[in-house]
Amino acid sequence: MDEFAPARDAALDLQHPAHCPPWCVDCTHRDLGPPGAVLHRSPPATVALYDEGCELVEAQVRAAFWDKAPDWIGTDPPDLERPHVEICVSDSSAMQVYLTPGQAHALAAALVRAADAADTEAFYRTPVPPGAPSAAAPASAPPQQA
Ligand SMILES: [Zn+2]
Repeated sequence: MDEFAPARDAALDLQHPAHCPPWCVDCTHRDLGPPGAVLHRSPPATVALYDEGCELVEAQVRAAFWDKAPDWIGTDPPDLERPHVEICVSDSSAMQVYLTPGQAHALAAALVRAADAADTEAFYRTPVPPGAPSAAAPASAPPQQA
């Protein structure tokens, strides 16, 4: 322990108060939020994905919690007034979505099922050389009459 440790620890205590959730590494006191509110956030996990324009973008997934003064509790849905999951997409829309832990587990399970299905599709489909005409009827084609 160095001679500056007590002062440094005191400074860290101001930035990271004792009431933080154990996963919090980023406390934000925002002027835009309710007075006295603190936003606690976990370290983000970054996932690359494609946006609707097929541009590669990043999604940041983390735990978050708005710690609000008692007179501001009830101003958001109850699910979001407790620790929840936040997803921020770094594209031009800057989309943010919030999930309860249960919703996040359901989304993760659905993603695993869809990824497994997509992997299976890749194994059984016959590779088509680039530029080869497709035998499948386009979606806009009228239905075949029997
Ligand atoms: Zn915190």
